[in-house]
Amino acid sequence: MEYERFFAERIGALKREGRYRVFADLERQAGRFPRALCHRDGEVREITVWCSNDYLGMGQHPAVLDAMRAALGRYGAGAGGTRNISGTNHGHVLLERELADWHGTEAALLFGSGWIANMTALSTLCRLLPDCVVFSDAKNHNSMIEGIVHSKAEKRIFAHNDADDLARQLAAYPRERAKLVAFESVYSMDGDIAPIARLCDVADAYGAMTFLDEVHAVGMYGSRGGGVAERDAVAERVTVIQGTLAKAVGVVGGYIAGSAAMCDVVRSFGSGFIFSTALPPAVAAGALASVRFLKQHPEIRERHQERAATLKRRFREIGLPVLPSVSHIVPILVGDAVLCKHASDALMERHGVYVQPINYPTVERGSERLRFTPTPLHSDADIDHLVAALRDVWTQLGLRAAA
Ligand SMILES: *Cc1c(COP(=O)(O)O)cnc(C)c1O
Repeated sequence: MEYERFFAERIGALKREGRYRVFADLERQAGRFPRALCHRDGEVREITVWCSNDYLGMGQHPAVLDAMRAALGRYGAGAGGTRNISGTNHGHVLLERELADWHGTEAALLFGSGWIANMTALSTLCRLLPDCVVFSDAKNHNSMIEGIVHSKAEKRIFAHNDADDLARQLAAYPRERAKLVAFESVYSMDGDIAPIARLCDVADAYGAMTFLDEVHAVGMYGSRGGGVAERDAVAERVTVIQGTLAKAVGVVGGYIAGSAAMCDVVRSFGSGFIFSTALPPAVAAGALASVRFLKQHPEIRERHQERAATLKRRFREIGLPVLPSVSHIVPILVGDAVLCKHASDALMERHGVYVQPINYPTVERGSERLRFTPTPLHSDADIDHLVAALRDVWTQLGLRAAA
């Protein structure tokens, strides 16, 4: 086997398809978000970030930075071990309590990331439940898919956000059999939102437990930022709520929240929890400060929604094909991988606007898009600049208009 040639050929195929990933080499500037420095070809320039998942700018919030600095000075850099072997710091315990309170659950459990939380919780629960069958939304995130596959449980896919299709599929199984329904609240590429109450009604009718990924909703929906389940007053109906500390919370880490017994099972049997070092105490302290702030500040959520609504309206006014998002996510359809990359490059080069092209396998082929994430820190002037930049690039490249 010629290994090096094999690797080069695989990469060559990606490049021919126009979906080879090039990372923007950024230096975030604490206190200046959404501005950042971008390194390219030995040069550095200031750009405006329009595709960050630091949705609320909490990654630079003084309350978060102060808590992290203080914790770093007091506790040092790393946790020093797995949670079981010397790694549980008091900050982890406080953060788990805070997360349980956020979601109104008995308990919560921390992981190194949201990806690991999904992977570990789903693989553990679906493996331990005897003869479990899993019903997974067609647009579920990779981390949920990997967890389900890894559990080796039987898997059925239901049509995206379609409670009737879910009911049809559940009806084919005996009532006594263990069942888990896995879905998200806000879908991050389209910006649509699941009918959580309807899906819970169906799950209840067939005796299934529910697993809800609120990664793109925690901090941003609900009066205290507890997610869409809080907004829709259905949090107590969901068996497992999963979230991240890396997006609106602005730090890093993931978690699940639910009953004490469910969390204890994942704590006791989940490899991705047991065999991995605990989060650094300073990270836990930053996330704790961020969650506490977000609970008490609904105005940041109002401003966020206003910015997203304004951006969608401004894009529609100039005839851009905005996909029908009902959330803070603003996707514009390009429909071609090569053109999508060209549009992204032209926005950066000509206008200092950074928005990453979104291609297969993140979205389906033919639905390549630019995905904008306006934050409370994007000003009216930033929006004006962006709209003018898009008008220029759309004309220059002859991209498609709204239908
Ligand atoms: C980003 C993401 C995750 C993973 O969370 P991380 O904390 O970034 O690992 C899980 N689910 C969904 C839907 C996501 O978009």
